[in-house]
Amino acid sequence: NATLYIVATPIGNSADISLRALHLLNIVDAVACEDTRNTAQLLTRYGLHKPLIAAHQHNEHEVAAKLIQRLQAGERIALVSDAGTPAVSDPGAIIVDAVRAAGLRVSPLPGASAAISALSASGLLNDQFYFVGFLPAKAGQRESVLQGLMQVPANLIFYEAPHRILESCQALLQAFGAERRIVFARELSKLFEEIHRCTLAEAAHWLAQDSHREKGEYVVIVEGANPDQADDDLEAKRILTILLAELS
Ligand code: SAM
Repeated sequence: NATLYIVATPIGNSADISLRALHLLNIVDAVACEDTRNTAQLLTRYGLHKPLIAAHQHNEHEVAAKLIQRLQAGERIALVSDAGTPAVSDPGAIIVDAVRAAGLRVSPLPGASAAISALSASGLLNDQFYFVGFLPAKAGQRESVLQGLMQVPANLIFYEAPHRILESCQALLQAFGAERRIVFARELSKLFEEIHRCTLAEAAHWLAQDSHREKGEYVVIVEGANPDQADDDLEAKRILTILLAELS
């Protein structure tokens, strides 16, 4: 029965935990978690008490080795992050990789994910999406990531730290132009949840309309490149190159 269970936890509303997650957190031998205080609070809320193992981005390799020993001894262990699905823009991937490489069983317990929740309420009609996660904080690196995404026809999903939302929107406008639509999914499942859709040209204005909008947690989705438009741009560049060659 030795298994590492990847357990999703709520991203705002504490009722968004599954019955299965509660059952499992009750029967595991230990819970590996991003922040022991945060997870102790979560467990206490549901009347659960379990040994906790700190597993954050600075000690994942060491923790992986310890968890492998415990799993080899037949234990069941849950892995949780502070909010949402572990190992997705959160610690956990290194542990999962090591546990799988050791030939041990890993099983996910589906639940809240900010990206998928935002996408489901975006109304952007495109079956394809590309999860970008957090953009680099440095402007130069951020621009080169955005340049690489310019022709991608799928909706682009970004996570953003609250204090950087305005700066990122300006970078998105510069990279993708004014016409594409953007969806802001702010404070999902919380009291001040807000989902707003507009064009990139209108985004900064919407953010500035209410000072609360520079706070809170955001998922940002930008509509993918229009393939016809991309073809038109390439064609225009091709013709321009020919004309310039004629002129010189
Ligand atoms: N692993 C998590 C998941 O599955 O959703 C994501 C963790 S990541 C460190 C935190 C980021 O997720 C935030 O900066 C924000 O972009 C997004 N996020 C988390 N909770 C959110 C919420 N309630 N509303 C909007 N975005 C949220």
